[in-house]
Amino acid sequence: MSHVDIVVANASELLTMVGPDGETHGARRGAALGHVGVIEDGAVAIHDGRIVATGPSRDILASFDAGTLVDAKDGVVMPGFVDTHTHLVWAGSRAWELEWKLQGRTYREITEAGGGIPYTVKETRQADPDHLAALAAERARDALHHGTTALEAKSGYGLDELSELGQLEAIRMARGRIHQRLYATYLGAHERPPEHRDDPTPYLDEMRTSTLPKVAKRGLATFCDAFVEKGVYSPDEVRPLLIEAKRLGLKVRIHADEFNDLGGAAFAVDLGAASADHLLSISDDGIEALAGSDTVATLLPLVPYAIRDPTYAPARKMVERGCIVSLATDFNPNVPCLNMGFVVQQAVYAMGLAPAEALVAATVNAGHSLDPEAGLGVLAPGHPADLVVTDQATHVHLAYAFGRNHVRAVVAGGRHIPL
Ligand SMILES: [Zn+2]
Repeated sequence: MSHVDIVVANASELLTMVGPDGETHGARRGAALGHVGVIEDGAVAIHDGRIVATGPSRDILASFDAGTLVDAKDGVVMPGFVDTHTHLVWAGSRAWELEWKLQGRTYREITEAGGGIPYTVKETRQADPDHLAALAAERARDALHHGTTALEAKSGYGLDELSELGQLEAIRMARGRIHQRLYATYLGAHERPPEHRDDPTPYLDEMRTSTLPKVAKRGLATFCDAFVEKGVYSPDEVRPLLIEAKRLGLKVRIHADEFNDLGGAAFAVDLGAASADHLLSISDDGIEALAGSDTVATLLPLVPYAIRDPTYAPARKMVERGCIVSLATDFNPNVPCLNMGFVVQQAVYAMGLAPAEALVAATVNAGHSLDPEAGLGVLAPGHPADLVVTDQATHVHLAYAFGRNHVRAVVAGGRHIPL
């Protein structure tokens, strides 16, 4: 018997997320999206933060002697969720906007009336990085409680050099205080700054020639992102910024085709972006472009829910055409939710994904867009020991029984965290 740190045993279903042909890396498209790689009455052996073995409980318990034995008590055990789109760092609640939403005001109308991103920018500029790091760490702990073991966090509520760098510093500080992997994204092009509302050219130049080089030199971000939308930035406006980001070694993510189709999906593919996000208004051409590429289509079903708009991304069509579909929260002051289980449930109930498809999208494909080499979202030997123990007996129940947190315990980075 070999000794290991942890064995998690007696899972009614162990969802390894290993693909139909034994794939442990890479994205899942089409029929492969619905393959969760079930081992019934399964177990996982973990040592030094990595998975050592998976298999039937009987075999694993006979082969390994564990420092800590976690009894899954006939619940599903699966990889931790990977949340690839969060705005984790901001100050000032916008709960008061709910009343405006209920009056039927649109996202754009709320922004123009003094709410939205500009309001959060005002509040966040006044907060120091220490305070923002504390807020980010507290939110990441909430995400952990809901089973998220890796997440992305964007800047984008500073819209000037000093505040944007401060937010990225806050993300760096938060990293040491939480259990998850945390990836940073520089989103200076989130909105037009109030100082450059009518002509953002000077701000675009500042980002490209001054802020971005500092971000790259200090290693403050893995990704550079931009909000491509009518009234915010056109593809032509942000192209030089994103090309420069790539030249400096950053990868690209795009807020694309959210309210209007500006060709954002095809633009993301053109740039070789890791991900195109939102896609509520994506055209058929955009879907074809994504389907023929490695750019992940990240769908955010809590956004239409939060803004009370019945338009969801055409998820089924995207799966059928062969896009790499993934899911994330889009946590921000307008979508105050870090519960990836609820995202999975919304993807099923509101967008028509099958439970298995939604779970693969929220783990394997999300991990592929964030860190393709890391093996996130798959429970296989050598992969990170990031997993959740749930209180539901089948993966279908995880999606079916909505509105409750099903996570009972988390292993993150090989560390057992009972909840
Ligand atoms: Zn966003």
